[in-house]
Amino acid sequence: MAEAGGGEEYLFKIVVIGDSAVGKSNLLSRFARDEFDHNSKATIGVEFQTQVVDLDAHCDTTVARMLVGNKCDLENIREVSVDEGKGLAEEEGLFFIETSALDSTNVNKAFEIVIREIYDKVS
Ligand code: GDP
Repeated sequence: MAEAGGGEEYLFKIVVIGDSAVGKSNLLSRFARDEFDHNSKATIGVEFQTQVVDLDAHCDTTVARMLVGNKCDLENIREVSVDEGKGLAEEEGLFFIETSALDSTNVNKAFEIVIREIYDKVS
């Protein structure tokens, strides 16, 4: 798609997968609108997201995958260490990043990395 300024414009789809209450909605709203909703859903326990779903079977070569550990602001009640997260990501060949939709840590960066990766694959 051509842009008014002469550059190219791309539309990428990003699917955020994870257990209920890990913060998927808030990651998206933080990225898209810079908003956080404390009441979006009751948190069931406290979770550090490490869910990896059998995505390979359905993806083509232009898919970029990233393991996101959200709620990194809850450092004092962390359940999964950074090394564990990194290790799992390495095993699965994924990018790894920790984010906080609450205080915005790395939210833009996470999306930018994944968008850049998709862009590099399609261009
Ligand atoms: P989803 O079910 O994965 O979409 O999770 P939500 O985005 O609805 O968030 C579930 C709960 O976790 C809500 O109470 C949010 O306010 C809270 N939450 C989401 N992201 C964060 C975060 O980065 N840090 C903290 N402390 N809480 C978060």
